[in-house]
Order: sequence, then structure tokens, then C-alpha cells
Amino acid sequence: MQTNLADFIKDTPEGREADAILRKCVHCGFCSATCPTYQLLGDELDGPRGRIYLIKQVLEGAPATASTQLHLDRCLTCRSCETTCPSGVHYSRLLDIGRHVVERQAGRGRLDALQRKTLRTGIPSAMVFSALLKIGQLARPLLPAALKHKVPPRAAPARAWPAGVHPRKILLLEGCAQPALSPATNAAAARVLDRLGITLVRAAGAGCCGAVSLHLSAQDEARDHMRRNIDAWWPHIERGAEAVVAAASGCGVTIRDYAHLLAHDPAYADKARRLCELTRDLSEIVAAHKDKVRALVERSSLVTHHASLVFHAPCSLQHGMKLKGTVEALLADLGFKLAPVVDSHLCCGSAGTYSILQPELSQRLLANKIAALTAHSPCAILTANVGCQSHLQAATPLPVRHWIETLDDVLFP
Ligand code: SF4
Ligand code: SF4
Repeated sequence: MQTNLADFIKDTPEGREADAILRKCVHCGFCSATCPTYQLLGDELDGPRGRIYLIKQVLEGAPATASTQLHLDRCLTCRSCETTCPSGVHYSRLLDIGRHVVERQAGRGRLDALQRKTLRTGIPSAMVFSALLKIGQLARPLLPAALKHKVPPRAAPARAWPAGVHPRKILLLEGCAQPALSPATNAAAARVLDRLGITLVRAAGAGCCGAVSLHLSAQDEARDHMRRNIDAWWPHIERGAEAVVAAASGCGVTIRDYAHLLAHDPAYADKARRLCELTRDLSEIVAAHKDKVRALVERSSLVTHHASLVFHAPCSLQHGMKLKGTVEALLADLGFKLAPVVDSHLCCGSAGTYSILQPELSQRLLANKIAALTAHSPCAILTANVGCQSHLQAATPLPVRHWIETLDDVLFP
């Protein structure tokens, strides 16, 4: 694709990056076939190719309109289009750049801006999020049905964190929403890794990965979160921590982007690059020890009772981290029987704050996903990202949990 970027952006790092991405796109449209919003709305401008065009126009100097912003807002950032694209177009990065420019030019209505600011303030603070969730849960019985499903009931408590300390250490990003929404997940990860001779370290000072701010076009704020995490983790990395892991794949995929997002920060670029090399998904760590895990699982009779499970692959895992099928293969190898899922590449509609900001599209995607996941009558849904977990749980009486919790149950009946 030929480009002619406008003076306001062409000589900036973002402009050069956007230009290189745009030039890779050959406008073939293959990506539209796997785009959830294009499938729902049937409008070229609600698919990746149309959004790429909209961003190109703005970067070439056309004024950003409310309509441009609407079509970009409707994107889930699920990155299914990146998996499909034969030319390797890094669409999500172009979208971040485009959204940021459009935000500056088109602005937001007061209510919309307030809602976004509230999300950027409330979610990334684990303390604020946990307090708001507790208030919502106390008020839940009094809420009308339409609001009730937006507040998840109190989750199962965490099992005991392992007391052992091993020479092998891996840093854990606890996440901001996950400890309140699913307190059992991180403890299950720590317990399973403890059995593998690895201690999960919760570094003081680490917090939100930055994804919420990044996807709401507050890039400077996102970079502040990233720098704070690097400062918190760096002493542990210097002391030999061998990896960084987040149980929520939505956080993991963001950490893997730190190198890219801090590439022009001379104080942090090298550290961010090193951090990305060290970032792993939980499934990669467990899979690297699968012979040992299999031996432990084979001693448990519980695995045979998990005969009808189904796995929902988060977009951040399969499209973002490019780990399609990793968890499914691991669980199958350990003896779990997973039901097949049609259209497993499609987003469930959670997508960070999307379920709040685009409720109608989100609910349509959720209904389709629940139908696909329950087609073979599973007894539970497993996943790998707390956002998907809560979103799916609001629409089904089946238990929805992180796969590591099920593995923890099998290893520690
Ligand atoms: S599949 Fe890739 S190259 Fe083709 S239109 Fe989509 S982004 Fe462009
Ligand atoms: S990120 Fe997802 S919703 Fe957005 S254009 Fe790509 S496939 Fe469509």
C-alpha cells in the first residue's frame, strides 16, 4: 500500500512505525473473514481492512470524525486479523497509533470521557477495584436483574500459598482485577509451580501491566505503569529470576509488548527488551515440565472425573501471544478430555473494557461463544484470562475457571 503521511506525524517514531505497517498491507481482505465485528455488522469499515484505511486517511491528513472514532472503538483489539494476515501486518500496533491520533483530533463527549477516565483510574488499582467490587457484591441482592449480571458474585477463596522457597524463581504479575475477581488463580499457579521446584515471587511495587490505559488511548499513562513494573522487577531479574509470568494472558501479552512500547525511552529500552525475552505464559512453563506433571497427575484419580471440560482460548493467548493450542495440547497430554469448540478463533466479547464500552456487540459475541462452548454439554469451562472468565461466567451457570486451578485440584485433591 502506498502512503503519504502528513507533516504532523511522518517524522515521529509513531509515524515511521505506522508507515512501515501500512506499507505491508496489500489490501487483500483475507483478514475480514476472521474479524468478529465484520461478521456481526457486515460493514467494511467494521473490519480490519476498512479500519486500516480509516487510520491511513487520518495519518495522511484527513480530519478524524466521530464516525472514524466509532469504527475504531468497535474494534475488540482481538488480533484475530493478525493471525489470518498473510503479510504479517501488525494491525494492533497501527490501531493503537491511530486511536491515539483520532482521540486527540476528535475528542470525546463529556460522559464518554468521564467513563473512560473512571475505568482507567478504577481498574488498574487493585485496592480500588477490590473495594468497588466488594461494594457491588454487597448491593448485588438489591440490584435489578439487568445490573445484577454485571457484578460477579463472591469468588471461591484462594487455597494456601506454598511455604517452600526454591532456588529457581519466576516473577508473577498478580494483576489488578484478577486477585479480586478470581483469588484462587494466582495461588493455584504458585502451588503447581512449587511442585515443579519453582517459587513464584510477587515483587513489591509491581501493579497493572498498563493494558487498560493503552487500549483507552492513554499511552503515556500506560508507559508509566510499564516503567513502574520494570523498576519493581529489575532487582529480581539481576538476582537471577528466570522468567516473568502472568496467569491472565491479557496481561502477559501486554508485557511482551513492553520492548516495543518503550523502544524510544533510552532509560528503559534495554530493560524492556530483556523483560520481553523473559516473559512466558503459564502454559509454556508447565509444558516445559510436562513429563514431571504427567507423572504427578497419573497418581491422581481425579483427572478421570474431569471427562467433559471445554477450553475457551483467550484472544490474547492465541492471537496476541501466538500460543494457539498450547493449553489444549498440554491438558490433553495430561489426560484431560476437552470438547471441541467451533469458531474457537473468535472473541467472547470481553476484550478488556469492551464489554462495558460496547455492551451490545459484546453481548452478541458472548451469546455466540457460550453456544459454541456448551454444544457438547461440558461440566465446566476452562480459560486462561480473568476478563474472559468473568464475562463467560455472567452468562452461564457452569463453573468457569482458570485451567491452572483444575490442575491444582488434581495435584492436591
Ligand atoms: S489480510 Fe493483511 S494484507 Fe490483507 S488486507 Fe488484511 S491486513 Fe492487509
Ligand atoms: S482486532 Fe479483532 S475486531 Fe479488530 S479488526 Fe482485527 S479481527 Fe477485527
